[in-house]
Amino acid sequence: MDNKKEKIELGVEILTGIRPTGDLTVANYLGAVLPILKMQEEGKRSVLFVADLHALTTNEPAETKKYCLNVIADYVALGIDPRKTIIYRQSDVAEETTVLMTYLARHISVAELLRTPTLKEKMQTESEEKLKQANALLFMYPVLMAADILLQRSVAVPVGEDQVVHLEITRKLANRFNKKYGDTFPAPALMQRKALRLLSLRGEGKMSKSNPSGAIFLSEDIKSIEKKIKKAETAIEGEMTPRMESHLLLSKSLCQDKNDAKQIDALLVQHKNGEAVMGEFKKLMAKIIISFVEDFQSKRAKITDEQVRAILKDGAVTARKNAAKTLEIMKNRLY
Ligand code: ATP
Ligand code: MG
Repeated sequence: MDNKKEKIELGVEILTGIRPTGDLTVANYLGAVLPILKMQEEGKRSVLFVADLHALTTNEPAETKKYCLNVIADYVALGIDPRKTIIYRQSDVAEETTVLMTYLARHISVAELLRTPTLKEKMQTESEEKLKQANALLFMYPVLMAADILLQRSVAVPVGEDQVVHLEITRKLANRFNKKYGDTFPAPALMQRKALRLLSLRGEGKMSKSNPSGAIFLSEDIKSIEKKIKKAETAIEGEMTPRMESHLLLSKSLCQDKNDAKQIDALLVQHKNGEAVMGEFKKLMAKIIISFVEDFQSKRAKITDEQVRAILKDGAVTARKNAAKTLEIMKNRLY
């Protein structure tokens, strides 16, 4: 049989990954969870995996296990429906993933991996001490990511700006393999997410889970949220700043009450006219965020570890079945 003439078997339509490295912030919700909810509403068959092997680059295995269960429960409380969106854990296909990673790694040179812009940036910006501790998983990151995507024979992958380079490497690996051994892996299409970047409530940079004082966590205590918003930086009367834009985006996106939305617009007009309304604005912002967080927390409290385990069990069956098929196709091409 001439393997080269075989058709590529497509796998999952859309694959998204999340790293279980900490509790989710409201920025993670807007930037990462909402797009998946949108796809779910549109009836797109997307698959979500928790990248707990990737998390081993920086975290202990036991830690990733805990965050893994938490993050899935969070996603379900936020509206991800496991009947519509398959959820699986990367470590449930650890053997299959690492086998594929090995075969893929032959198709990229050490020099190429060292030139990966994200790795180069890390090497330049991280402290010397952190770099000394950085393990080889950091170097292998793009190959492991390619293995995740190609193992499920994914058709499309939504990525933020920071992941575009890695997806290009995945496409390159798929194409190089296909060229040499015959069509095997679909080269996944890049679905670029609209860049959305919430800023930290105060000080430098974006909102991140690793900078808790400027972030609002979905699991956070209401009193603590109130305090953080009180301390948040705003803008002087009449002035629009990136931070004000970010506060507005956050408030408007989380707002579930039409009257509150109208009031934000009204306050904004007053602010632009030079009136001192920032105190009132922050009160409204706190009300909106707290109402969203309380709603989340009450839904989250009802989700049990057993439920999450059942979701993972189902997800693992699908992911393993697909993975076994991929490895079978690949081995037929190779041997
Ligand atoms: P860390 O501080 O550990 O890097 P993080 O809050 O930056 O945490 P990531 O795990 O790096 O979160 O990213 C998870 C998802 O959340 C990604 O899809 C990312 O695009 C999105 N995200 C993170 N920060 C923001 C932000 N400030 N605004 C919008 N989306 C964000
Ligand atoms: Mg980050």
